[in-house]
Amino acid sequence: MHTAPRTGAPSGAEPRTTAPATTAPRTPAPRTPVPRTTSPRTAAPPPLVDRFGRVHTDLRLSLTDRCNLRCAYCMPAEGLEWLGRAEVLDDDEVLRLVRIAVHRLGVRSVRLTGGEPLLRRGLAALVGRIAALGPELSLTTNGIGLARTAAGLRAAGLDRVNVSLDTLRPERFAALTRRDRIGDVLAGLAAAKAAGLGPVKVNAVPVRGVNDDEIVELTEFAVAHGYRMRFIESMPLDAQGAWDRAAMVTAREVLARLARRYELVPVGRPGSAPAEEWRIAGTDAVVGVIASVTRPFCGGCDRVRLTADGQLRNCLFATGESDLRALLRGGADDAAVEAAWRASVAGKGPGHAIGSEGFVRPDRPMSAIGG
Ligand code: SAM
Ligand code: SF4
Repeated sequence: MHTAPRTGAPSGAEPRTTAPATTAPRTPAPRTPVPRTTSPRTAAPPPLVDRFGRVHTDLRLSLTDRCNLRCAYCMPAEGLEWLGRAEVLDDDEVLRLVRIAVHRLGVRSVRLTGGEPLLRRGLAALVGRIAALGPELSLTTNGIGLARTAAGLRAAGLDRVNVSLDTLRPERFAALTRRDRIGDVLAGLAAAKAAGLGPVKVNAVPVRGVNDDEIVELTEFAVAHGYRMRFIESMPLDAQGAWDRAAMVTAREVLARLARRYELVPVGRPGSAPAEEWRIAGTDAVVGVIASVTRPFCGGCDRVRLTADGQLRNCLFATGESDLRALLRGGADDAAVEAAWRASVAGKGPGHAIGSEGFVRPDRPMSAIGG
């Protein structure tokens, strides 16, 4: 198959701090659900709210589980058993679910992801149809193919991209991703900026002994090109189950390395975004850290996820899913799909428990959920 998610603002979320030093998950306290009302068609739909009062306005939409890279922290060298064509939602099904999300559930932002979303056939047309529904629309990509598609995606209505790039060294890139494609990624980044898909964010997952010596280099590269650098703590979501906490480079370590080179001014966490941000003093450059493991931001989560095969997940780490594809293909009307969606979110837990004894890895790896 040929080839494509982002964030909003919750009400009822905990107040944010700029640099929490705790490792305890910030989990919300249960709340009385906001009563639902029947809205006229023109009014805002009732919020998609859970029992902790978190309002869900952001949809991470996976368009394929396939990928043209094999990042070592994500999947094995031989790849995975991909979904069959008939299992993946077609464009009309995707559109219908996004329309229900935007019109009936109050979703305001959609981030396209995968797998590698640029591998989805007919992506620009699908982007155009989703954009016409009105959400803020962004895409997370490994950048391969972006040089050729960025302008068309922008013209179709895509607002922004995040591009993953874990190293600037060609041999290291080839070893880490098992493909010699760094040139395509760098060209994709430049094309995204030229096309106006900004602010272009660069995502890197630092892994100890692999690329953690490039934290400053990557940041300098991003600053020089006007991209926003973001470091993501590695999570136990690799398909091969090889995640090792000791190899994870923590947000604290990332910041310590950056602080040796830059003076960092805390910006905080914009809206319910997962990244905490710092501005490099004396510049407009911003660097972010997504500390999913050591500084969980579950208390402010406003995200729901839809896999490429139409399974709704109320959390990246959820161990259960709601089968929206079965509803669509079984002839359910929009109200029934909306009800299933609301029931899934109502059942969302307070937060993930990585690091605790009770933590259970989800059955699907990151690439099949949509990061
Ligand atoms: N293929 C696209 C890409 O790499 O940007 C989109 C999908 S990928 C699953 C989305 C993001 O998840 C990427 O930034 C990637 O680095 C990150 N990611 C993948 N596996 C991860 C893991 N085990 N822990 C943390 N981040 C991970
Ligand atoms: Fe593919 Fe993205 Fe996973 Fe890398 S992180 S293997 S590019 S899905």
